[in-house]
Amino acid sequence: MTFSFLSHLDCSRTGERLDADVVQGTSPAGAPLLARYDLDRVRETVTPRDIAAREPNLWRYHEVLPVRSPGHVVTLGEGMTPLLPMPGYGRRAGVPRLLMKDEGLVPTGSFKARGAAVGVSRAAELGVRGIAMPTNGNAGAAWALYAARAGLKNLIAMPADAPVITMKECQASGAELYRVDGLIGDAGKLVAAAVAGRDGYQEVSTLKEPYRIEGKKTMGYEIAEQLGWRVPDVILYPTGGGVGIIGIFKAIRELQELGWLDGKLPRLVAVQAAGCAPIVEAFERGARESEPFPDARTVAFGITVPKALGDFLVLDAVYTTEGTAIAVTDDELLAAQRRLAELDGAFVCPEGAACFAAVDRLRESGRLGEADEVVVLNTGAGIKYPETVEVDAPLLAKDEAIPKPAV
Ligand SMILES: *Cc1c(COP(=O)(O)O)cnc(C)c1O
Repeated sequence: MTFSFLSHLDCSRTGERLDADVVQGTSPAGAPLLARYDLDRVRETVTPRDIAAREPNLWRYHEVLPVRSPGHVVTLGEGMTPLLPMPGYGRRAGVPRLLMKDEGLVPTGSFKARGAAVGVSRAAELGVRGIAMPTNGNAGAAWALYAARAGLKNLIAMPADAPVITMKECQASGAELYRVDGLIGDAGKLVAAAVAGRDGYQEVSTLKEPYRIEGKKTMGYEIAEQLGWRVPDVILYPTGGGVGIIGIFKAIRELQELGWLDGKLPRLVAVQAAGCAPIVEAFERGARESEPFPDARTVAFGITVPKALGDFLVLDAVYTTEGTAIAVTDDELLAAQRRLAELDGAFVCPEGAACFAAVDRLRESGRLGEADEVVVLNTGAGIKYPETVEVDAPLLAKDEAIPKPAV
């Protein structure tokens, strides 16, 4: 039985075809590589009904994932996260059909685990002995822990002001961890130089290896499956490097080619923080690529990416689906984070909260309608970012009475 129908890799810029069964980074043109599958054979081999009977994790889609042998799957149970109605927030925003896919529930508390599970599994399968990456935190934590499970060495470099919890996850996993006095791009230069001098190591920075997208595209497969093999009207995604939105778009196209979805495309919305909004800036100019965003800064650390390697793929997804790109301020996203917890009991990460803030803005401007079915990706758990909420609860002495409720 064929576990994966991976056939080759395509350069996302030139279409040049590359061998998928050796370790690959970017294409000769310096662009991300996209994994391709023999979808005709997938269609003959498996049906949505077969998939429904499988374990509730992302490996249920193994025919369209790159790992060739089930023995090489490195898993902590990632995937098949709930798609939940958010009726309180939705009603208040005027978008009653508001749903949230909660990626806070995956191992390591962020959806980076999807990319790490598939990326680490495939790297180990191809004989890589160590992985190295710059990160804003969550990706490093996820890759370090999955690498530990796979028995791979790992070198992680992150900005010194990245969330401390992500450093602790790396530290606990035994990673070779460095803090860098700079941004993720600075960390990236140091990692690239280090990897050049190390045998058996692969650089696995965002979109510099082909398989992280494959892990993240499973969000698109799951949304379609959870809605009964159809797509919503709109999907909002907090966009940093853009891997998730590129992956979801890729998933929808593959599903259409498989004949498991009709031709309808969801409008894909790239949400960014006003403090780091290169994709939004490019979208507003009608450009197909972004310019490096100066002085990038936002509490939504996971989307602090001033210039993404795959910016043109993100913009293509937005333009092709007639979606949009929108930036929200840190004040707006922090207010949305509180409101969602108050109204619907969901404590989301600031990146996810940015999408909820964007729902309000898009509804006000009429770009979201009342009848739209809207899916927000909450890409991580709020509890990974304890500093986003101030505690101003009264401090009581041991013999002090708790005040009576106001009438
Ligand atoms: C990395 C990250 C993002 C952005 O993901 P990309 O695929 O790089 O755009 C969003 N939210 C969280 C919590 C993240 O860790």
